[in-house]
Amino acid sequence: MSEPLSKYKEKRNFEATPEPRNFKSKNEGRSYVIQKHDASRLHYDFRLEHDGVLLSWAVPKGPSLDPALKRLAVHVEDHPVSYGTFAGTIPKGNYGAGTVEIWDSGTWTPEGDVDQMMQSGSLKFILHGSRLQGKWALVKMKTQEENQWLLIKERDEFAIDGDKDKVLTRSVKMGGTQPKKF
Ligand code: MN
Repeated sequence: MSEPLSKYKEKRNFEATPEPRNFKSKNEGRSYVIQKHDASRLHYDFRLEHDGVLLSWAVPKGPSLDPALKRLAVHVEDHPVSYGTFAGTIPKGNYGAGTVEIWDSGTWTPEGDVDQMMQSGSLKFILHGSRLQGKWALVKMKTQEENQWLLIKERDEFAIDGDKDKVLTRSVKMGGTQPKKF
């Protein structure tokens, strides 16, 4: 097995980017964050803390509250837990250049053994965020492309049929402290 976060470190020059280089974590948190990342293409980085890292997916269209609208979620490299509070500008010429803002944050509860669910390509969980709550699933697609998953709102009292992109634009008072704005 490769060193944890080796891909994260490989892709970045920490002399040139303000992104976190503090990799220490207590291995026990269950934080959840979505970062809106206005890079060469706008996307939403969906992150779940597990085993001292943030499991991470890039969701080009962002989440939908409509269980019928399954959103492509590209599984990317694990990020350090400290990344979950990062907001700012990644300078031109660096990996992921563009602005990062915290779009949602909170905690999550897995509905089963996380490693087993990741292995089987079906991660079920409950989100306790400011924008997103209730039951969700990340399901690995059976395609040639290794890293393609789908982010799906499961049917419960937080699901909204026909939501389309309303959740993306609705303004929400965020809990906790907002990181410094850029
Ligand atoms: Mn990103």
